Amino acid sequence: MARITATITPVHADESACTHKPRETGCAGRSAYLVTCSACTWTDTSTTQAELADARDRHLRSHLTQPAPVSA
Ligand SMILES: [Zn+2]
Ligand SMILES: [Zn+2]
Repeated sequence: MARITATITPVHADESACTHKPRETGCAGRSAYLVTCSACTWTDTSTTQAELADARDRHLRSHLTQPAPVSA
């Protein structure tokens, strides 16, 4: 069984993923973080990474008791 992971990605104000290095020239600035689950379509956003890590942990725990439905 594949391990379920949820990845936190920094995003700009327009919600496009930020792949810049911190303070890199050309970066419009990170305004929030987005987390996506590898096993389902769950996503969440937060302005702080710590808050999002909490939400991610809660979500990953929910998969332990309730397996993700197999997508059709
Ligand atoms: Zn950026
Ligand atoms: Zn999930």
